[in-house]
Amino acid sequence: MNEILRNLPKIDKLMQILHGDDISLAAKLKAARDVLAELRRGITDGDIMEIPHIDDIVSMVISKATDSSAYGLHKVINATGIVLHTNLGRAPLAQTAAEHVKQAALGYNNLEYDLLAGRRGSRTESLERQLTELCGCEAAVCVNNNAAAVLLILSALCDGGQVVVSRGELVEIGGSFRIPEIISQGGAVLKEIGTTNKVRLSDYENAMGQEVSAILKVHTSNYRIVGYTEEVNLEKLASLACGLQIPLIYDLGGGSLIKLSETEPIVQESAKFADILSFSGDKLLGGPQAGIIVGKKKYIDKLRKHPLYRALRIDKLSLAALEATLKLYQEEKLHEIPAVNMLTVSIEELRNKADILLAMLKSSSKQLSAEVIETSGQAGGGSLPAEDFPSFAVAIEFCGISVQNLENRLRNWDIPIITRIHKNRLLLDIRTIDTEEFDIISKAVKYISDCTSEEFREGSYHV
Ligand SMILES: *Cc1c(COP(=O)(O)O)cnc(C)c1O
Repeated sequence: MNEILRNLPKIDKLMQILHGDDISLAAKLKAARDVLAELRRGITDGDIMEIPHIDDIVSMVISKATDSSAYGLHKVINATGIVLHTNLGRAPLAQTAAEHVKQAALGYNNLEYDLLAGRRGSRTESLERQLTELCGCEAAVCVNNNAAAVLLILSALCDGGQVVVSRGELVEIGGSFRIPEIISQGGAVLKEIGTTNKVRLSDYENAMGQEVSAILKVHTSNYRIVGYTEEVNLEKLASLACGLQIPLIYDLGGGSLIKLSETEPIVQESAKFADILSFSGDKLLGGPQAGIIVGKKKYIDKLRKHPLYRALRIDKLSLAALEATLKLYQEEKLHEIPAVNMLTVSIEELRNKADILLAMLKSSSKQLSAEVIETSGQAGGGSLPAEDFPSFAVAIEFCGISVQNLENRLRNWDIPIITRIHKNRLLLDIRTIDTEEFDIISKAVKYISDCTSEEFREGSYHV
């Protein structure tokens, strides 16, 4: 490690070769110090095994010096094959949804104005009509995200009473959303029943008493319990809840309106039995971040009157994106919704795309060895965990450059390309790459290839 550290360029050497005449000396100096400090930290932590080429360090410094006013959020290319990647922004929006957002953002609109009557109107009336029609429910409301939806439902409907949940469904979703904690935050009391792998109707029946104010069913969206298992179907839970006049609440998590797999519940089907259901807008639906709640009008009305509803309300931009996404479902133009498209694309089409990318990469670099291989992707975003999504990836390797170095260079490209390393090869999973992004990837590969061969000629570079 000390040897690697010693080989880091000295700051004065770096300053001598820095180009970028339009950048102030002070900005360059600060950027150079920051970059060297970051590299030093990476080496000490063991994340960096070899020093980047001096040209790459220069580019890092220049881009840092010019970047100080750039945005924190920027486009990346998702070559991981994970469609709903929470770290990469989950579902990308459909074209029409993005255009509708732009229009809503740039001008005034009738967000809370009734144009016919000429007075204050409802913010979400039209959106709610779309949802009731699509889900086959009496009523709907939308909030900021599904975590907010579950919190609102528990706060408004449970009134400090007990909420009955199966032990097999006490889920944790990434980012500290845990069912037991959200129940107590909602002012209710968790009453767990059954065991991790088995719960029977009699467990639910035996738990019922004066203090029980709701039954909560949680879709185990990010894991599966397999083997010696048993759970109670929704229809039986519904009739139990109905007899006791308490609501059956169903947190669906992903919330798909179409059949994506054998195990993923479909919203419309579940809505036939549960009294109140919630799901995310940016998971399987393929829309913006939002928490969608549908179900019986008497319960939805209670949610709307709760003070938390105002605190958790959906903003106009998400509302515009959601409205446009739902319109695509109404018009049956599902192929225009990127996430749905990526999750349902045929294996032949993926193979074709992979072959095209392979050909482009091979023609941009002679040093590259690349081939198309089979992979199994994932839906991501804690959705469809047991589902294999067979896909294809272009696996690439350069002679003279380690796979970690290659991954790092692509990740630090102008438009960062996020890849996956598998069995010491770099994979570009085709499922989540748009054909329009092929060109960017080819350019990056060509650039890296040219640098690498130069380094070889100069004999200044070894791995
Ligand atoms: C993802 C998920 C949530 C949280 O939804 P967000 O929209 O991310 O807030 C809640 N419950 C379940 C079962 C989930 O899968």
